[in-house]
Amino acid sequence: MFGLKDDWEFDIPERYFTLEDYEGGTARWCPGCGDLAVLTAVQRICRDEQLPPEKTVCVSGIGCSSRFPHYMRTYGFHGLHGRALPVACGIKSRRPELKIFVATGDGDCCSIGAGHWVHAIRYNMDMVVMLFDNAVYGLTKNQTSPTSPCGLKTNTHPSGSWLPPLNPCTTTLGIANVSFVAQTVDWNPAHLYAVLKAAYRHRGLSFVRIMQRCPTYTPDVFTELQNDPAKLVLLTGGDNAELDAATARSFPNKRAHDTRDLDAARHVAAQQTPLPVGVLYRNPDCPCYEDYTAVGLGMSVADKMKGLDRELDKFAV
Ligand code: SF4
Repeated sequence: MFGLKDDWEFDIPERYFTLEDYEGGTARWCPGCGDLAVLTAVQRICRDEQLPPEKTVCVSGIGCSSRFPHYMRTYGFHGLHGRALPVACGIKSRRPELKIFVATGDGDCCSIGAGHWVHAIRYNMDMVVMLFDNAVYGLTKNQTSPTSPCGLKTNTHPSGSWLPPLNPCTTTLGIANVSFVAQTVDWNPAHLYAVLKAAYRHRGLSFVRIMQRCPTYTPDVFTELQNDPAKLVLLTGGDNAELDAATARSFPNKRAHDTRDLDAARHVAAQQTPLPVGVLYRNPDCPCYEDYTAVGLGMSVADKMKGLDRELDKFAV
């Protein structure tokens, strides 16, 4: 038929998803906000990995970036301030087959949600956690956040922030059972996409800090990094994020890095200038909590009742 050889085969999927299948409502972030670049990267990953929208969930807390689920045509949960991670872990424990993307900001994750952050890293449930780090509380209009640099003038510190900022990557790398940490910038779409894709493909909790521009409240925080590529250093080698040659060439500084070496990852993550970008650490052998919480999910109601009775009988006197 059609003049083709008999052994030719075409694999025609029943469904093919395009970018439009993941596009939710019109994004209402400020013009030039870095959140837009992250949204585009995630929609591309969903398309390229052909994730069924009904099997994909975006979870967030509170903040500018936490509007993310509204702009994805997938399932979504816009949670409470700092509570994105326990919601995401709850979803994963009951529906381990779902693909989860978490959008959280530096205020949401590193301040009010810090306790959940620590435990979620240790639980290592399979999801991509994107830390949108703009170094300020944007939604509530310009307050100092845990990652604000010293001297940043905000409404809460009009003479400039006093304390040294928290480093989300070194903090995460200090938590037991950490399995994936990476750092990227919103203004290099190819690197952003490659890092998020590597995060998606890692089984376990993939923590990605994204330096995210906020032209409204912190327009100068990333200016140097953005204008001078020499202020960044690209981590290369081993199983780092896969980049095309042109993107790799756009980074004048490169550094070979063993992503399996936790001590090296901590050392590199502590470096500020030039700022390391790429996968800092990856350990596919860390246990995932959903492998334990999923036990018994397929049980019938009758079997669950029998098991419950058995346990209660142990207390019979
Ligand atoms: Fe983006 Fe900043 Fe505007 Fe929030 S305030 S939407 S972070 S540019």
